[in-house]
Amino acid sequence: MENTIFSFRQTGQIFRMINDDTVVTLVSHTHPDGDAIGSTTAFAQWLSYTCHDAAVVLPDAVPQSLSFLDTGFTDLLTYDRDRSAVESRLARTDLLICMDFNAFSRAGDLCGILCGMTCPKILIDHHLNPDRDSFDVVISKTDISSTSELTFWILANAPGMLPDLGNMPHGVCEALLAGMTTDTNNFANSVYPSTFAMASKLLALGVDRDGVLSRIYNMYRENRLRLMGEMLTGMKILPHGVACMILDTDTMEKYDFRDGESEGFVNMPLAIADVRMSIFLKADRDYWRVSVRSKAGTSANLCAKTYFNGGGHEQAAGGKIFYSEAGDGTVQSALRFIEKATDEFFSRI
Ligand code: 5GP
Ligand code: MN
Repeated sequence: MENTIFSFRQTGQIFRMINDDTVVTLVSHTHPDGDAIGSTTAFAQWLSYTCHDAAVVLPDAVPQSLSFLDTGFTDLLTYDRDRSAVESRLARTDLLICMDFNAFSRAGDLCGILCGMTCPKILIDHHLNPDRDSFDVVISKTDISSTSELTFWILANAPGMLPDLGNMPHGVCEALLAGMTTDTNNFANSVYPSTFAMASKLLALGVDRDGVLSRIYNMYRENRLRLMGEMLTGMKILPHGVACMILDTDTMEKYDFRDGESEGFVNMPLAIADVRMSIFLKADRDYWRVSVRSKAGTSANLCAKTYFNGGGHEQAAGGKIFYSEAGDGTVQSALRFIEKATDEFFSRI
């Protein structure tokens, strides 16, 4: 049986950089999502199974809804909770593997430390415009569903992998399936022939997809659905087919909001025929966190890059609007900012 439909020139290079005593640390982006956590924990588990010292380091905590991915099989340290453990782990790291982000600026408060590390650095990512100069080896592929899928094909090429992938550990398979599922919104977006091939191989290996889906989608708190209702009721439809929903701190308090609970809200307004782009704002420290989704023909990436200090993929991007840019931190000023930015964006294209 053919192992893989991709073989990356750099795959051999990666595995040659990992010796028996290499201390490997896998890192991902701020506010980690299913793909960030799935891809890093999967790679770390695979390294542990093959008797390597591997751990995952993330800038922020794993949201409760994704905590099932932290199986305890390998260490998962978060900088917001355990600064000294993260700092000592990074200090003794021989190889840094950065996953699901394209530049160190996406690593939040870890950015300075990671940039300053002198050990070899590998990037494994699927976002546009990777910062190639900051890494020794770059595996970047944008026409793929997720970093978890990319990791699947890399591991399928790992030394010692059996032709039928029968020795890919079960935990690795589940984490990769979960990461791909969340990034494609359960096979709704960014799905390629290779994505179905990956899913097919994982099912053949006996992965419990129903169990994975149930842990991702059927374990929310009631409050999340009540909040979703309030967001959809308050949704504004702006000119040019732009839908906008805003989650401010008062509403967060009302629903005792937990990190990660607004995941997926931004996709919903695209169900409206006339909506071309959906924007979701969530209050953060001194800025609004922005999520942008668009239908084919409209670039969420360009809009996020031009107006929201961010970027991402063509149809799914994100960024920030600092309260000072919008005038102040009120919902009204944020809405005016979005209306002006999107009016300019759609008038230009
Ligand atoms: P989400 O809306 O789910 O937070 O993010 C959607 C996509 O945009 C993700 O692929 C994410 O990596 C990217 N993204 C989110 N926030 C930012 C940001 O602040 N800067 C950049 N460059 N990309 C972002
Ligand atoms: Mn991703």
